[in-house]
Amino acid sequence: YRMRYAPFRNEKGYIGGIIIVFQDITEQHKLDNMRKEFVANVSHELKTPITTIKSYTETLMDYKDIDEELACKFLSIIDSECDRMARIVKNLLQLSNLDYNKTKWNKIEYSVKKLIYDSCSKLEFAFKEKGHTLHIDIEDDIPDIVIDKDGIEQVILNIISNAIKYTPNNGNIDVSAKYKDNKVIISVKDNGIGIPEEDKDRIFERFYRVDKGRSRELGGTGLGLSIAKQIVEAHDGDIIFKSQYKVGTKVDIILPVATNVSLNLN
Ligand code: ADP
Repeated sequence: YRMRYAPFRNEKGYIGGIIIVFQDITEQHKLDNMRKEFVANVSHELKTPITTIKSYTETLMDYKDIDEELACKFLSIIDSECDRMARIVKNLLQLSNLDYNKTKWNKIEYSVKKLIYDSCSKLEFAFKEKGHTLHIDIEDDIPDIVIDKDGIEQVILNIISNAIKYTPNNGNIDVSAKYKDNKVIISVKDNGIGIPEEDKDRIFERFYRVDKGRSRELGGTGLGLSIAKQIVEAHDGDIIFKSQYKVGTKVDIILPVATNVSLNLN
């Protein structure tokens, strides 16, 4: 609490009492801390690839007669660290646009079936690479949804990519869609590593990962789910995680069919 006080005087000019104001600053304090933590996280996330790049370029400059094969290996590490930084910056810019409502939504009526099949085919290589079995089950007569196609596709790609990444080889991934109470529910279920109970509430936080090392190795930025949540909320929808540690995860992306969000007003 912040306390402020001031005396007040009666008509004769004598001090008649003191006014004390207690202001609850916990909310403000929390926001300040979140902001500080965010800046610390951004700096840390960018510092790691910069350090790697710097050390490899220095080695290449110092040892002019370095073996060509080794030099190529160093260059490819530098290249992938640059890619990581580019991904982080791209995600941060997208989050900033979402924060300031600067994202231009192009909402159109779109087929759920097409959305899911297109997304899955974009990830065909990733499925094959890990030997996962994909099963798609879309309810007949599911209505179209009014969405920004690129935005919602990004959400679905992110959720399915996570299922692929966080499931050991030869897993099962089920993607389904059903219609209930004027909402379309797109579910992605995996039999992967799951999310420990204590981490469940935090996975939508920026840069939060259950296992930082694993996520980084798999190319993750820890920003995907926070972006996904904001995109879905801009469609009056929601994302719900149900997960059991070491058993698997089911993610429901819930989208209203008759959205009251205005079309192309931005
Ligand atoms: P990342 O870039 O690290 O994948 P996300 O924001 O997409 O970041 O996800 C945040 C974290 O949530 C991941 O690092 C991972 O720990 C956890 N997570 C997300 N999806 C799953 C899943 N299907 N199974 C297990 N853990 C998951």
